Amino acid sequence: MQDLKNSKTKVGNGLRTLLTDQLKDIYWAEQALVKALPKMIRHATDAKLVKALSKHLTETEGQVSRLEAVFSSLGEKPEAKKCEAMSGLIKEAEGIMDDCEAGVVRDAGIILASQKIEHYEIATYGTLCAFAQTLGEKKAMALLQETLDQEKAADAALSAIAEASINAAAVLVD
Ligand code: FE
Ligand code: FE
Ligand code: ZN
Ligand code: FE
Repeated sequence: MQDLKNSKTKVGNGLRTLLTDQLKDIYWAEQALVKALPKMIRHATDAKLVKALSKHLTETEGQVSRLEAVFSSLGEKPEAKKCEAMSGLIKEAEGIMDDCEAGVVRDAGIILASQKIEHYEIATYGTLCAFAQTLGEKKAMALLQETLDQEKAADAALSAIAEASINAAAVLVD
């Protein structure tokens, strides 16, 4: 990665480079999620949870395309760069699924892992949206805001499912 501290470029150029670099990171992350979510859906038992995760898989596929539109609005080619954080969060999700037997406790674990993922995405899109705004990239900003709203809604839906039934059922399991 470019050493931003020693960069000779202007602040505007520097922030633009950081935006592009982090778009590559989240582009990798969303593609990794398109591959990882089907396993989480298969391992979930609660019907509402399966439905919420399936809906978010469809949204995630759209988010990959939306990021391609963001790259193009900035005059850049879409490029993916491994996101170590998302790679780790997906590994955690897989660990939880392997460690828990099928049922409500595993469902609670899948929600936990999914919400860690959503929060990473919310932090990322929130910041990238602010960068795009600062840079006067209105189209990119609107696109990133659209995805940010989907991530927030997905997170809220998972909280609602956990609080409505899964956590209360999971506490009864030995
Ligand atoms: Fe996403
Ligand atoms: Fe990342
Ligand atoms: Zn398994
Ligand atoms: Fe998401």
